[in-house]
Amino acid sequence: MRPIDQDSQAFAYSSVDALAREVISLVPSTEEGEPPKAVKSTVGAQVERLETLLAASFDPGGKWTGAKETAEAARLTELIGDGYQAAAGELIDRTGPYCAYCEAAEPTGLSVDPVKPAGLFPKDAFDPANLLLACSPCRDRKRAYLTRTAGSLASIDGPVLPSWPHRYWKGLPSPSRLPFRHRLYESRGGGSADRRPVSIDRARQLVAAYRQGRFDVEQGARSSPRLVLRPSPAGRRARGTKTPNPVSLAAWVEAEGGPLPGGGDPQGMIDMLDLNCLAGNPGDRRQEMRTRAWLVALDSWERLDSMDRIGAPDEDLRATAEGLRDQTIRATGFWGVWLQVFRDTPGFQQRLAGLLPGTAPSPLWEM
Ligand SMILES: [Zn+2]
Repeated sequence: MRPIDQDSQAFAYSSVDALAREVISLVPSTEEGEPPKAVKSTVGAQVERLETLLAASFDPGGKWTGAKETAEAARLTELIGDGYQAAAGELIDRTGPYCAYCEAAEPTGLSVDPVKPAGLFPKDAFDPANLLLACSPCRDRKRAYLTRTAGSLASIDGPVLPSWPHRYWKGLPSPSRLPFRHRLYESRGGGSADRRPVSIDRARQLVAAYRQGRFDVEQGARSSPRLVLRPSPAGRRARGTKTPNPVSLAAWVEAEGGPLPGGGDPQGMIDMLDLNCLAGNPGDRRQEMRTRAWLVALDSWERLDSMDRIGAPDEDLRATAEGLRDQTIRATGFWGVWLQVFRDTPGFQQRLAGLLPGTAPSPLWEM
């Protein structure tokens, strides 16, 4: 949920070119029993067809009038995706290879996601101001949520479904106040009933154990909806150390609660994207990655903090440690995690904004 400086420069991506792209469209034959014909067409022509279909066959309650219309809309939506996906390379260059929703670094699996979904707002799908990068779990969850709650689509850009992640920064009293917080929870019993927030001292212990390879993080399975920190094989083999008990640990993302001054409530986006889902679908490792980022960020913070506590550190050594931290940030993403862990470090917000391309400098966080 990084404030992205999306509008400051013109895009080389052109919606006119995207709409002019050629697509091969299968048109059902008028003859009974004949197979559909492959016809050369343009993305723009499919957009017009979808607009017409929406006007005729999509009722205000948020449903298609029949199965045939539903299938046709899905086919047209798929085809017009060929147009706006042309913006992918430029978006990655401008904002870095990070999912705009969950913030994970996804160097190879990103695609363009129209914030207002293409299937219902086909013309808006080509506006660069409507395009963000998303990982496939976030896209899938968003699509599923919007399909389930199509009746509220009219307010997708409003407070009900505030799907522009970076807009939560608008009007925040201070750039250091995050639209929502990431909070680390621990649960000895493994269930969420006895979970408790991890104290800073406890977090230090966990980081120390993580650093020594005494446990690892796994995304929970459906039957075990949690993140599990298990003693790693290396930890089990270590002689002279008591094998730590398996610890169940979950990282929850919590909305700061209530509507934000600039409008919207991030809880809506958290729910839409299912960011708190601990039992990911196969391939959905967002919670696991976020928890790893948290532990790595705490580790990094702890190292720098201990340098400062020991006494005036060697300048070069400190600069090296900061440089390593910065490289890790670029590699992991998770802006919000780093921002929160280093929230009391002077100048860190601006440094972080400079590290990740396309981040708006803090005065613009009020945009
Ligand atoms: Zn994502």
